[in-house]
Amino acid sequence: MTHKQPTLDLSPKVSDEIRKTTCYMCACRCGINVHMKKDPLGDLKVAYIEGNRDHPVNQGVLCAKGSAGIMQHNAPSRLKSPMKRVGERGSGEFEEISWDEAYEIAASWLKPIRETNPEKLAFFTGRDQSQSFTSLWAQSFGTPNYAAHGGFCSVNMAAAGIYTMGGAFWEFGQPDWDHTKLFMLFGVAEDHDSNPIKMGIGKIKKRGARVIGVNPIRTGYNAVADDWVGITPGTDGLFILSMIHCLMKAGRMDLNYLAQYTDAAVLINGDDKSPEFGLKLRDENGKELVIDRTTGKLTPYDQKGVKPDLSATHRAKGITHRPVFHQMAEMYLDDQYAPETVAETCGISAERIRTIAAELARVAFDEAFELDHEWTDFRGETHKTMTGRPVSFHAMRGISAHANGFQTCRALHVLQIILGTVEVPGGFRFKPPYPKPATAHPKPHVGICPDQPLDGPHLGFVHGPEDLALKDDGTPARIDKAFTWENPMSVHGLMHMVISNAYAGDPYKIDTLFMYMANMSWNSSMNTTGVIEMLTDKDESGEYVIPRIIYSDAYSSEMVAYSDLILPDTTYLERHDCISLLDRPICEADAAADAIRWPVVEPDRNVKGFQSALCDLGAKLGLPAFVNDDGSQKYTDYADYIVNHERRPGVGPLAGWRMGENGLQNGRGGVNASQMENYIGNGGFFVEHIPDGANYYKPWNQAYQDWAVKMGIFDSQQPYLFTLYSEPMRKFQLAAEGHGERQPPEHLRERVKETMSPLPIWYETDQEGNEGFTVTALTQRPMAMYHSWGSQNAWLRQLHGRNPMYIPSKLMKAHALTDGDWAEITSPHGKITVPVMEMAALNDNTIWTWNAIGKRKGAWALDEEAPEATKGFLLNHLIHELMPPKGDGLRWANSDPITGQAAWFDLKVAIKKVDAPSDAVSLPSMKSIKSPVGKGPAELKWKVGQ
Ligand code: SF4
Repeated sequence: MTHKQPTLDLSPKVSDEIRKTTCYMCACRCGINVHMKKDPLGDLKVAYIEGNRDHPVNQGVLCAKGSAGIMQHNAPSRLKSPMKRVGERGSGEFEEISWDEAYEIAASWLKPIRETNPEKLAFFTGRDQSQSFTSLWAQSFGTPNYAAHGGFCSVNMAAAGIYTMGGAFWEFGQPDWDHTKLFMLFGVAEDHDSNPIKMGIGKIKKRGARVIGVNPIRTGYNAVADDWVGITPGTDGLFILSMIHCLMKAGRMDLNYLAQYTDAAVLINGDDKSPEFGLKLRDENGKELVIDRTTGKLTPYDQKGVKPDLSATHRAKGITHRPVFHQMAEMYLDDQYAPETVAETCGISAERIRTIAAELARVAFDEAFELDHEWTDFRGETHKTMTGRPVSFHAMRGISAHANGFQTCRALHVLQIILGTVEVPGGFRFKPPYPKPATAHPKPHVGICPDQPLDGPHLGFVHGPEDLALKDDGTPARIDKAFTWENPMSVHGLMHMVISNAYAGDPYKIDTLFMYMANMSWNSSMNTTGVIEMLTDKDESGEYVIPRIIYSDAYSSEMVAYSDLILPDTTYLERHDCISLLDRPICEADAAADAIRWPVVEPDRNVKGFQSALCDLGAKLGLPAFVNDDGSQKYTDYADYIVNHERRPGVGPLAGWRMGENGLQNGRGGVNASQMENYIGNGGFFVEHIPDGANYYKPWNQAYQDWAVKMGIFDSQQPYLFTLYSEPMRKFQLAAEGHGERQPPEHLRERVKETMSPLPIWYETDQEGNEGFTVTALTQRPMAMYHSWGSQNAWLRQLHGRNPMYIPSKLMKAHALTDGDWAEITSPHGKITVPVMEMAALNDNTIWTWNAIGKRKGAWALDEEAPEATKGFLLNHLIHELMPPKGDGLRWANSDPITGQAAWFDLKVAIKKVDAPSDAVSLPSMKSIKSPVGKGPAELKWKVGQ
């Protein structure tokens, strides 16, 4: 039987070398092992990619995108060389040039600007993850016009989280996967925080925990939820406030948590004649005051032994001061938030709202548990145990990208807080460098001076009208009008407004637009056709209205054709990067962690990592942060910067393996010339665990605060109270009510009063101009095509080469549509003609499609007849960065009035069945652009190794 058995090699050698780096196929930044094989010439080539089992983010898990990274690296659409435009904008006519010539051209445009009007440069980066570096470059240049893509992504989520709790979802926090028993998601597709959430859901489901998904569309994580709530888009805030109503009415709140760790007991001025009406009562040092339950006396909240009283009022100088909690009760117990009142608007029955609220309370309170960790709080009180409340939440862009998104996100945090589920076992936990209160962040800076750096960081947190970025004459200091009365708390800027404001010369004209990884002439813009017109329009002198555009990308994206000078970036396997604690790190709730990328292969083209190009260009321009005292170039490339830059003494981009007095140490420490090698030797990452007893209750836990100082996260302890009642918002309201020197312009006064409620509210978004358009239209990203980064990827294209419009059964029937039929979808801004497909698990009045599958003919080195160019489409043709005109001559942004977040998901459309276009090509079909990199081969096939 056995003598004829073949001999099988069950463990063939699959690679000649493994190089460990960090994935960049999405923003999760998993650790990857890149297997390299020798080709016949003996050169090592990328053979395949697997997950790194030791890595804190993914522990070996790799998703479809991650393993398809090899095709990203080999994509025919990679740019090959710096280029200058030689045809008209949009023609795709370029000439390859040397890097020296590219720098000469860039410097010849930028130097005169810096010497006279630095604000004439607008430098905006897209999905850049080196913002601490790119912002330093812009700051050193001296322009106030810098931001990344947060304004059109999820700034409401980030801003509401930090203003309310000192931290947010996404990479800034995570559920306590080891203890949570009820996990509720709002507005999350399957993309953001992909592998960690998939692993987490798997873990908690194994334990029998429940998952509730709130989303108009049942895909991704919602498809594996035990309970799916197909909410009406834009009403999440109302649903959440109704649950708060139910919990308050039933007395199901963590009163101890509210009293100890939040501003619920802080006293508020109740004199409606006072210029301080609605502001917090503070002592001479600015500390918020509460009544101590033990002594009945007025006291700063943080004194030893203080037990803040949630109900006591305080009367002084004829003014009654009431605690925040009184105001919450008054507001949220009102019948306007009763489930019966909100049910129809939200599309959720009153009974279901009550059931979910009751379930949240049951798990939080009836399944509470104690962890045996002693800890000492900021008041000096030692607690023998930590109380667990096993309810956790996660939310993302779905609730954020509405014009009421900031207040909705704030409402969600208030719900978490009244359940006592933040930073406790079983709840939502921050990841270092969070928690960090808004007051510990910088304020925005716009102080410009020719030939000088800006007077401080561009982006930050405002705390009242005095912090707005306004010029002396009251006009916006920034091109995107961030931090103005139009959107006072726009902490990430408004990238989606830059091109349209620059084109309109409102608030002023610029000279050079410099962008990185931002496909603004296609899916990253709210108004694709309009933006293309703005980029190509010329003034009466024959010059482009936006005179110069410099753009950096690794691929021949649609934006390349509309730029004048191209700085070609590398792929992620060919570059240095740092995933830094100064930026958007890869920490866990139990650990600080950061990581690098390094060139596991050298580029075979004339390309450079964008950050390295900025080091060269910064030196050529003589930017102070990029030159030595003698004027020579300070950082030879980005790797040199990563290792040698110090943000503050002892604090650099990477926290691992820094140089201490007695050798290598983590956190703070001097420059270590071998730091990059240390990271490479450790698999590309560094991790340091938070000690037991310090890893929960972080905002108030002395042991955590000490650890954070040691690690260089803070320079001193930063304990704080969670902010249920936002005093900065009340200050903006007060100004709108007529107090103070800085008041809003008349046309914004009412809006500021209405939207800037210091306690979260819900309001219907502006529907003026939407008459006749009654169906909400949404996009979301497919997991395999996160941020469209994989659109030209030969493997991923096979999963999503085309996209239908998904329509709920009810609307399919109403319009006599069946799968494969075509429909004309119109909005106040445009029209598309697309194929449809029925989807039952979808809100009855919502249609949706995958984002960014459609491609412009001639882009991404795709064949002109590729399905992406003929069968794929963009919803962006229906959206606009401006609201429909109101007849008042003003330009009203389609943004959240508080943060400026692009309100992508407020889009309303009408549906009409039509015949299929004769060639079955979705419309609009835009004319082809010439590909500056040619076309990919008809067949993509090769073998690595022997
Ligand atoms: S989840 Fe994102 S970072 Fe992780 S392997 Fe997938 S694509 Fe890469």
